Amino acid sequence: MSLFGGSKPIQTCEVCGNRYDKAFEVRMGGKTHVFDSFECAIQALAPTCAHCGCRVIGHGVEAGGIIYCCAHCADQQGVRGVQDRGTPEKEQMRG
Ligand SMILES: [Zn+2]
Ligand SMILES: [Zn+2]
Repeated sequence: MSLFGGSKPIQTCEVCGNRYDKAFEVRMGGKTHVFDSFECAIQALAPTCAHCGCRVIGHGVEAGGIIYCCAHCADQQGVRGVQDRGTPEKEQMRG
């Protein structure tokens, strides 16, 4: 396999098997994966929310080694004190 062989390298998506010259590689955990689309990459690599089961494609929330898609889901599972990353803390000031 040569990187500069003249023609575009055709790689095969490991999820759907599509052969695509614009496929891309994602390195995760020391292993290199090949996908033809982000949809396939998400399907293969994105963690799943432990509460609602949706794919966590944002930052997500991790509590005790378990990943949730949002602080609300973590809260629903009884995890306390988690906050969505990127959400500024807002203290309710009264009086
Ligand atoms: Zn694919
Ligand atoms: Zn969720």
